[in-house]
Amino acid sequence: MAVIEGRPPVVLPKQVSVRELATLLEVSIVDLMRALVNMGTMASINTTIDFDTATLVATELGIETKAEEEIAPPVEDAEAEIAPLKPELWTEDDASKLKPRPPVITILGHVDHGKTSLLDAIRTTNVTAREAGGITQHIGAYQIEYKDRKVTFLDTPGHEAFTAMRARGAQLTDVAILVVAADDGVQPQTIEAISHVKAAGVPIVVALNKMDKADANPDQVKAQLAEHNVTIEEYGGDTPLVPVSARTKLGIDDLLETVLLVADVAELTANPDRPAIGRVVEAHLDTKRGPVATVLVQTGTLERGDFVVAGVSAGRVKAMTDDKGKPVGRAEPSRPVEILGLPGVPEAGDVFRVVADEKTAKALVAANARERAGAGASEKPATLDEMFAQVKEGKAKELKLVLKADVQGSLEAIKGALAKIPQEEVGLQVIHDAVGDITESDLTLAAASSAVVIGFNTKMEAPAKRVADQTSVDVRQYKVIYELLDDVQKALTGMLEPVMVEAVIGHAEVRQIFTAGKTTIAGCGVLDGVMRRGAQARLLRGGEVTHDGHIESLRRVKDDVREVAAGLECGITLDTNDIQVGDVIEAYTVQPKPR
Ligand code: GDP
Repeated sequence: MAVIEGRPPVVLPKQVSVRELATLLEVSIVDLMRALVNMGTMASINTTIDFDTATLVATELGIETKAEEEIAPPVEDAEAEIAPLKPELWTEDDASKLKPRPPVITILGHVDHGKTSLLDAIRTTNVTAREAGGITQHIGAYQIEYKDRKVTFLDTPGHEAFTAMRARGAQLTDVAILVVAADDGVQPQTIEAISHVKAAGVPIVVALNKMDKADANPDQVKAQLAEHNVTIEEYGGDTPLVPVSARTKLGIDDLLETVLLVADVAELTANPDRPAIGRVVEAHLDTKRGPVATVLVQTGTLERGDFVVAGVSAGRVKAMTDDKGKPVGRAEPSRPVEILGLPGVPEAGDVFRVVADEKTAKALVAANARERAGAGASEKPATLDEMFAQVKEGKAKELKLVLKADVQGSLEAIKGALAKIPQEEVGLQVIHDAVGDITESDLTLAAASSAVVIGFNTKMEAPAKRVADQTSVDVRQYKVIYELLDDVQKALTGMLEPVMVEAVIGHAEVRQIFTAGKTTIAGCGVLDGVMRRGAQARLLRGGEVTHDGHIESLRRVKDDVREVAAGLECGITLDTNDIQVGDVIEAYTVQPKPR
């Protein structure tokens, strides 16, 4: 294919995902994947490919490329410098610096229940006179002012986006508005949304929408919500419900008032007087402006001119605009802004943070790139087997399940039986259950929550299969309830922290004492069992334990040996020198008790 005339070479990083590459090359993902397959490279859109492969496929598509400027070698001292930047979530030690920040809201609910309409209604009813001239820009998030208080809304409604972010460790939402159409009631995606929000531990405000409709049936919806463990305040629960109409704007103020009340309970704070940290909400390549990223500041204040790192891209913030397209000089916590100046397009969910200088930026980019390259190896215990290992190490205490079944009857039967499995040490939590095939949303929820997906007489939808292939989520399908329960039970008992038991393996009597330098060597006769190098050992003197440690070395004649059996003589050193003739060394092991 001929090289496209007149186009400057596309700058490629050392590593790039297929999705990013398509953006950089400005080709469709389908064309790119086809070209990759032609070259014999099987890749999914999230596969990371190296510079050489990316260059080859670009050439195949007639696009010239060049290598991104060499990233400074991650020298040791730079590593040390970025180490404190690494746990991506900041900790603010000095509570006196924390100030209240606006809440960040996501709207979720079933399709056509009015999520988009509600986002628009909230936005248009709260345009202050000052802002009225601005043209609404869809940048992925917007902020409104209501009674002198600011509220931020994430513009991509729906639990898929919510959980996809969470799967990347980005928990941005403080309060979730669950939209339920009063004329249609709780629907499958309403139930999914409830599970997703609950799994994230985010408080819910129900917006009972379409109240203007003649067939609105609020009581029915309230009862349905209760069936799905959302008990509204009117029914004695703690979830507020506000009747609204996105069409007539009824109740929008009430809704905002309620959201602010719920947010107040959470006492949301951040420290505005520090370099900003936040997340990328959305990013794309603009043909005229280059890479454009919407970032949400989570703590600190972002200023134009700051040096920022977003994922594997670092640069100076050249320009910053708000959701009205208005240039802004600074962005405080919870403020979404669109920034220009990054050399590459970061991914939604990437952490961005202001760094002191270019050197730190380069080191952090290098570290993020390495992390991304190794990202396939998820640290999350997403399979029953990994979970088993994690709990053995005392790292996990809970097995989370996403449960799908063909019919309500089986679902109830399975839930009932699961509830009966003893879970004293390791808890079992069904974070979502529903009738129907295994969906993409089930998989992202499981990925974000380190859960295992269990299907009973279900199939897996094609998009779900793709997610399953890309993530390490364990999907187990069953046709026999007993086998399902047995596996879960096995996993749980396997997961139980082992009970450690002590076993005495032998006794030796100290008959002579030698010294070598400062070390006391006990010349012993093994009375019973064995003496073993490294084994734990107690020193008994007149029936009293005078020391509890281990056998440091074990010698037979002149050789170091691993074990000496009863009836033989040996030289033993312990991790104490206070050994006397007549003492008895009792060797023992501590091992997990088999279940
Ligand atoms: P989404 O899929 O949840 O984002 O739903 P949309 O916001 O796209 O709304 C779906 C449909 O419901 C559209 O035709 C809206 O005009 C309509 N709709 C949304 N809110 C209301 C409402 O409060 N009253 C009435 N009557 N219709 C509404």
